Amino acid sequence: MTAQLIDGKAVAKTIEAEVAQEIARLGFSPGLVAVRVGNDPASEVYVRSKAKKARELGLHGDELILPKSTSEADLLAHIGHLNGDDAVDGILVQLPLPGQIDPRKVIDAIDPAKDVDGFHPVNVGKLHLGRPTLAPCTPAGVIRLIESTGAAIAGSNAVVIGRSDIVGKPMAALLLQRHATVTIAHSRTRDLAAAVRNADIVVAAVGRPLLVTREMVMPGAVVIDVGMNRLNPGDADRVAHDEEKSRLLAKNGTVLVGDVDFCRVREVAGWITPVPGGVGPMTIAILMRNTVTAAEWRRR
Ligand code: NAD
Repeated sequence: MTAQLIDGKAVAKTIEAEVAQEIARLGFSPGLVAVRVGNDPASEVYVRSKAKKARELGLHGDELILPKSTSEADLLAHIGHLNGDDAVDGILVQLPLPGQIDPRKVIDAIDPAKDVDGFHPVNVGKLHLGRPTLAPCTPAGVIRLIESTGAAIAGSNAVVIGRSDIVGKPMAALLLQRHATVTIAHSRTRDLAAAVRNADIVVAAVGRPLLVTREMVMPGAVVIDVGMNRLNPGDADRVAHDEEKSRLLAKNGTVLVGDVDFCRVREVAGWITPVPGGVGPMTIAILMRNTVTAAEWRRR
């Protein structure tokens, strides 16, 4: 059996169409501001693509670009200003921040009603209480990918590998909300293979190529690969079959792979996300979805 591929680009397009429709229904353009401090090239690409996608779908997408030397107090003052600006429905601060700024203080300063990344402790608390809230984008996107397969989440055994605040923990909370029996595996888990072997749903969010192997995966499982690992082309031999290599080659000459041994796991899984083209496209789509939700809730 070969797993069916979960097409993240197609699911993201569906969400984007929903967002565009909802904006048309609202009759105004929700405002999203992406804040970037410094000029880390990866952050620059992310922030620019978020603002661009926002504009494409009919949102007001703005970037606030501050110099790398910005003090914590200055950034907090900017956040305070955005909190008070009624035209701004969503604020996101691109992480990581330069060393002089404590990211926790910045996240805590964002108005929870505008926290479209879902990182504010109030929103994290609501998520874990199972109350309606703005949930972090990547795990919320993973839920949509799992739902797109038609596989039941309620009653399933799900394993989340990784326990970060932005992916692993909220992922586990969202699966639990949907009545899965959830195991969280992490760097201190003694027997990862045993944790994965019973799982109907596997979500890998670690950042380590080839972590999830064919032997670990239950036949027919839904396997979602959140990991993004950039390797040199020379390493492609280690992680992919020949026919896979050209697909993995990124425009900048690096090779992008996830945490799952894709070529081999797809021989046993029921459904699997490719990297790239699986989870990646979902994150921005859900960010737009969260911005529209924030705009609706703030005006209620
Ligand atoms: P992180 O470094 O904050 O967390 C990694 C987690 O993996 C930790 O909780 C750690 O306990 C666990 N871990 C480490 N080694 C392990 C092992 N051997 N076995 C089991 N668990 C182990 O990373 P993160 O921010 O959660 O991101 C995880 C991966 O997902 C990264 O590759 C990142 O690039 C990717 N990511 C992708 C998207 C997307 O949109 N596709 C979004 C966010 C993160």
